[in-house]
Amino acid sequence: MMVQNLSDPDVLIIGAGAAGIGAGRALAKAKIPFLIIEAKDRIGGRAYTDTTSLGHLWDQGCHWFHSADQNVLRKLAEEIGHKFLKRQRSAIMKTFMNGAWQADRLREDFVWGILGKVAQAGREGRDVAAATLLERDHPWYPMARHWLSLMFSAEPEDISTRDAGNYNDTGINLAVEDGYGALVARLAAGLPIRTEVAARKVTGRAGDVVVETDQGTITAKAAIVATPARMLELGRIEIAGLPPEIVDAFAQVPMGYYEKIAIAFDANVFDGFEMPYADIFDPVAPTTRPLGFELHPFGRPLAITHIAGHFARDMEREGEAGMIDFALSALVRAFGSDLRKRVKKAVTTHWSSDIFINGAYSCAKPGHGDARKAFAVPIRERIFLAGEHAHPSFQATAHGAFETGERAAAKALALLGSRVEDGRAAASA
Ligand SMILES: Cc1cc2nc3c(=O)[nH]c(=O)nc-3n(C[C@H](O)[C@H](O)[C@H](O)COP(=O)(O)OP(=O)(O)OC[C@H]3O[C@@H](n4cnc5c(N)ncnc54)[C@H](O)[C@@H]3O)c2cc1C
Repeated sequence: MMVQNLSDPDVLIIGAGAAGIGAGRALAKAKIPFLIIEAKDRIGGRAYTDTTSLGHLWDQGCHWFHSADQNVLRKLAEEIGHKFLKRQRSAIMKTFMNGAWQADRLREDFVWGILGKVAQAGREGRDVAAATLLERDHPWYPMARHWLSLMFSAEPEDISTRDAGNYNDTGINLAVEDGYGALVARLAAGLPIRTEVAARKVTGRAGDVVVETDQGTITAKAAIVATPARMLELGRIEIAGLPPEIVDAFAQVPMGYYEKIAIAFDANVFDGFEMPYADIFDPVAPTTRPLGFELHPFGRPLAITHIAGHFARDMEREGEAGMIDFALSALVRAFGSDLRKRVKKAVTTHWSSDIFINGAYSCAKPGHGDARKAFAVPIRERIFLAGEHAHPSFQATAHGAFETGERAAAKALALLGSRVEDGRAAASA
């Protein structure tokens, strides 16, 4: 439901991503008058299922239920019959390396071992750069860098081991067949959302909050700011009198970069290749950079690859043609040049330059692994921050973002003297 007027609700939610929608659902249950404003012409934010560009469904943003056994969005997907992979891959991922396909336990153990080592260092209380744990002379060093940058959307030099250790990784990750973005959109059904309204300034006063937008001013008793961290870091949205420790946290927990390149073929060209995932990596020519591909996700004639960190940011700046050529060249090295003739269309994401997102997800800098805790503190008693950056243990994820929305709603309700009917948001605050 889209509301027509910018009325003054009890609670104003800024941003209709997973966090804003989590907050909205909690407030709807409590029957509190609220409104969600969203700057874009669509909802979902970084949860965005694209059904048009390639003629086949694919997720431009989040795609996996991470820590799926503890993932609130997986539970909601089950309730509404939104399809997702029921069991995760157990076989060793195939890698095209030194001119041949290999399914190498040692290589896979090496990559996952690095990721485990980084988190373990953090859990032991060390807050150093993930890069310090890497063996630079190891032939699979570029592979380790590649996977670290995908996990954290940042360069290993910029990843805090402490932040990594704080993440609650249960090791179960399940891809969403019907689309993660489509799920988040379904969960927003019936919520009062006004799109194409961008907040500019949020000011907390003694008894209310004034939000200046590009469509006029809205006054509410409380506000939940659920926009990407970078919007606040860059001052695109100003929160008047933001405490210095929160200003500092935005600087110390920046968003990284992560883009996808998706190629559609005229048919299932990878039939016969038994794995749905493949890495392509040439250790003797490290400039080729490792790449990981999803092949035929859920039987769709697509190959999707992911790049992250500064490389993703710089490639995205250069433009789609270079990104597509880069991905296709890697596929051709491994599967042969006939593949080029089978390409129907290719597209890329643009999260880095998207003016309402400007990045991928948050990662604390070394030495600042606990800085994101500052995001949980209410501002002038009635402004609450929500979003993936604000979760203490499911940071950087869509379900983490959703939970921060629920928690912010519970705080707003406590301020207004109400509780969520089924107690979920109140209990998790
Ligand atoms: C390529 C990629 C792959 C990913 N893969 C996964 C994955 O597999 N699994 C997973 O769990 N997570 C993944 N993530 C992370 C996940 O998508 C995000 O953590 C999550 O969706 C963030 O939700 P959010 O509500 O915090 O922010 P957002 O989804 O960014 O929502 C914030 C909203 O605020 C809006 N906004 C911005 N400025 C204003 C303004 N001034 N006024 C009003 N509205 C404004 C934005 O348009 C946006 O809609 C991925 C992210 C990327 C980029």
